[in-house]
Amino acid sequence: MPDKIQQLEQLARKLEPSPEQRNAWNAQVQAYADDFLNQIENLNAYDEPPEDGRLNLAIEEEGKPMERLLAEVRAKVDRAGINPASGKHLGYVPGGGVFPGALGDYLAAATNRYSGIFFANPGAVRIENELIRWMCRLVGYPEGSLGNLASGGSIANLIAITTARDFRGIKAARVEKAVVYLTPQAHHCVQKALRIAGMGEAVIRYIPTDSRFRMDISCLRKQLEEDQAQGLEPFLVVGSAGTTDTGAVDPLDEIATLAGQFGLWFHVDAAYGGFFLLVDEWREKFRGIERSDSVAIDPHKGLFLPYGLGAVLIKNVKAQYEAHYYKANYMQDAEADWEEASPADLSPELTKHFRGMRMWLPLQLFGLRPFRAALEEKVMLCRHFYQKVQKAGFEVGPEPELSIMIFRYRPTQGDITRFNEHLVEYVRRDGRVFLSSTTIDGEYWIRLAVMSFRTHKREIGLCLDILRAGVRQLLGQGPVAG
Ligand SMILES: *Cc1c(COP(=O)(O)O)cnc(C)c1O
Repeated sequence: MPDKIQQLEQLARKLEPSPEQRNAWNAQVQAYADDFLNQIENLNAYDEPPEDGRLNLAIEEEGKPMERLLAEVRAKVDRAGINPASGKHLGYVPGGGVFPGALGDYLAAATNRYSGIFFANPGAVRIENELIRWMCRLVGYPEGSLGNLASGGSIANLIAITTARDFRGIKAARVEKAVVYLTPQAHHCVQKALRIAGMGEAVIRYIPTDSRFRMDISCLRKQLEEDQAQGLEPFLVVGSAGTTDTGAVDPLDEIATLAGQFGLWFHVDAAYGGFFLLVDEWREKFRGIERSDSVAIDPHKGLFLPYGLGAVLIKNVKAQYEAHYYKANYMQDAEADWEEASPADLSPELTKHFRGMRMWLPLQLFGLRPFRAALEEKVMLCRHFYQKVQKAGFEVGPEPELSIMIFRYRPTQGDITRFNEHLVEYVRRDGRVFLSSTTIDGEYWIRLAVMSFRTHKREIGLCLDILRAGVRQLLGQGPVAG
């Protein structure tokens, strides 16, 4: 028996590499990351996946050398599909991933602190709660508000909706009478969250939008009155502070007033747009956000952090707690009146990655100034593109409110959707920049989303050049690209 234990120990100790081994691995991984980042300006924003993209390395009894693994990652992961680190990624909602974010993750994983319970890791929880309070102040919430650092905007929205459901006492029997108000432009993760929260049968009212895709407030009022008269229960209104399609900001202040009159929970989805609040000049666009009950805001978009960090901010922490706390005998040591709330009591997670570190480190190292500048730059770049693309003969949607806009080419003959589908395909095959498309009211549009800290004037210029060349080729006027 003792021999067996010793044998096992010898093998198990392989899990603790020697300092020399650690150094070697560190150096290899760092060299890989350096190589990637040193080349980032030249890497494509999109690469067609290799013919056979399947990974060759099975999980086996014996370990493999780091070189082989990194070679596989380079070939099969980092050169296939969208390159979200590229400043030429102008589709969906990019962010880029500031480097100290990676260092924060490294530190959090190396020390293996987790940020679920204050009693267990007071420093980690303090950092996370401080970050949440900082964001609460950013949106204008009062002292005592809190929320949670989740993995992204989808979970942030889910936590808000779950809190709203319990706060308003919507039990199963009442779900079919509960009414949710949003625009057709609201992010689909809201409906997903409602379904996950057991509210899939709630009544959803899609409130029409104005010419700039913002919620039409008189339609909202009319719908609320009708629903109330019908004996339904107006429950939740979701306003967008920066929609994914066009960056539209709903009239938050007016929505807040109606939410007050009709007793609705007012949630703002600011996953994409929230951090534009850092630019003083634009705070006015978001007027009324401070009157909401909850906000979703994504540091992995607006603070350019690597993916994996979305925040929910909630005014009524007690309601958030009551929707998420849990008790277990094996957790009895953690139950007391601690100075800081524990994230595990305010979200679905218990043991969780100390993700605050990836946000705290960049904010502390850089300070806020470069973030503000980058955000202002993104909006200006989008406006610049808006002007230039029209000069290149494109049709545009509404003037961009933030850093997302829609546009398309209208050929004098032939199908406009087909033409623009081909144009997006042309851009994708070229690969240097990446653009995505959308359909609004049945109309096909190309989207430009400027949200990577690595996107500057040169990247926008390249995008315009590629679009012009694409149009020429599709019209049969230009050289056929290889
Ligand atoms: C990105 C986004 C979401 C979803 O957030 P994830 O971080 O992708 O889960 C929700 N709402 C809006 C407006 C978004 O832009």
